[in-house]
Amino acid sequence: EVSIFWFRRDLRLDDNVALYHALHSKYPVIPLFIFDTDILNSLPKNDARVGFIHESLRKLNTKLNAIESSILIKKGTTTEVWKSLFEEFAVSEVFFNKDYEPYAIKRDLAITALAKENNALCFSFKDQVIFEELEISKADGLPYTIYTPYKNKWLEKYKSMAPLLEYDAESYFSNFHKSNFDFPTLQQIGFEESNIKVQLYNLTQISNYDETRDFPAIDSTSYLSPHLRFGTESIRKLVNWAVHKNDVFLSELIWREFFMQILFSFPKVVSHNFKSAYDGIQWRNNEEDFKRWCAGTTGYPMVDAGMRQLNATGYMHNRVRMVVASFLCKHLLINWQWGEAYFAEKLLDYDLSANVGNWQWAAGTGCDAAPYFRVFNPDIQLKKFDKNGIYIRKWIPEFDLGYAKPMVEHAFARDRAIATYKAGILR
Ligand code: FAD
Repeated sequence: EVSIFWFRRDLRLDDNVALYHALHSKYPVIPLFIFDTDILNSLPKNDARVGFIHESLRKLNTKLNAIESSILIKKGTTTEVWKSLFEEFAVSEVFFNKDYEPYAIKRDLAITALAKENNALCFSFKDQVIFEELEISKADGLPYTIYTPYKNKWLEKYKSMAPLLEYDAESYFSNFHKSNFDFPTLQQIGFEESNIKVQLYNLTQISNYDETRDFPAIDSTSYLSPHLRFGTESIRKLVNWAVHKNDVFLSELIWREFFMQILFSFPKVVSHNFKSAYDGIQWRNNEEDFKRWCAGTTGYPMVDAGMRQLNATGYMHNRVRMVVASFLCKHLLINWQWGEAYFAEKLLDYDLSANVGNWQWAAGTGCDAAPYFRVFNPDIQLKKFDKNGIYIRKWIPEFDLGYAKPMVEHAFARDRAIATYKAGILR
């Protein structure tokens, strides 16, 4: 008999809650990863995120090999794979960490039911957040939809608890199932190496975070986002660390949980405005305009540099993400969902809750969003946050040769956006 621990967005051995509990079960533990074809089939063959997952699994496998164990890697739909696992092994218990996205919730319910049919017990755990679901809620039990009171409650609760436990499982590593499963190459999974790579995160550079985080030319943010997305870093460790280091940085980690909570409580936000009063906005949705935005040829250097950084590296600085998103929705009057989908394709840190939450924030359609009449002026943003043009010159080499004219004039676009929003918002 065996237990199976199913890796998903928690690709680490250290401080992994479900893995810790699996290793304390009475059966040897097979670590499993499934390349889910329901997700993979829609991705380009050189998707950099698949490469990062593969590389992270390879590192985990090397560690497991040192203790005579290995990861079992499967490819297929999760239901097909689990059916075959129940045939292949005498599975008594299944362990995984919870995932709060609508697709994952549905998938996990199906696998839990399948386990039950096969007389296996399923155990799921909170791992990717400090507070999940409705753990942070208003006095009446309803979810918060405004960030600041959510954050205050989050901090109050966190500070009232004993320091968070970190789950050190190393002393139980002998409970891994002894095995030598084949480790497939990326090509065998059906993918190719991408030249875009996830960069290492860096916590030493956030010492001046409060003052420098808005300046894209300065390397002063952590680059943690893909590591939090795929769980190569543990949120408990980070929060325990950040709480003594930097309040502004901690509040960004709380934004992450806020948007996860919004997605959990209001899954409709994936494809609908959080504020349905905004459903009447008449988007222009011009395809040519959208192409220019994607390619970074709008004539606004801050917007263009951001889109080129995204296209070249799979990353864009947060301040610039806000500028390009506002430009798409307000200056070009293109539905935020188009921008959300483009970011989803390109971002290495793409995370449904953060992406949808931030896009709706920028469009003004989300919870606790920027007011619709606030229209970022991309040139003023440039003067404020990249006044020496270091960031834009990095991504727009032709800048000094005389840059293209803006595709739409700011004052005109601003008035048009405000008028269109005003006419579209139902009162
Ligand atoms: P740091 O500044 O070092 O922040 C530390 C961590 O806090 C981040 O890694 C992230 O996990 C979290 N965080 C920071 N800002 C936010 C925020 N506004 N919302 C939620 N979490 C935050 N972040 C994603 O992780 N995935 C996305 O798909 C994503 N899409 C975005 C789309 C738009 C339009 C905008 C404006 C922002 C988006 N963000 C997204 C948030 C933010 O831009 C990135 O988390 C950040 O730039 C990542 O860089 P970093 O790790 O160096 O951040």
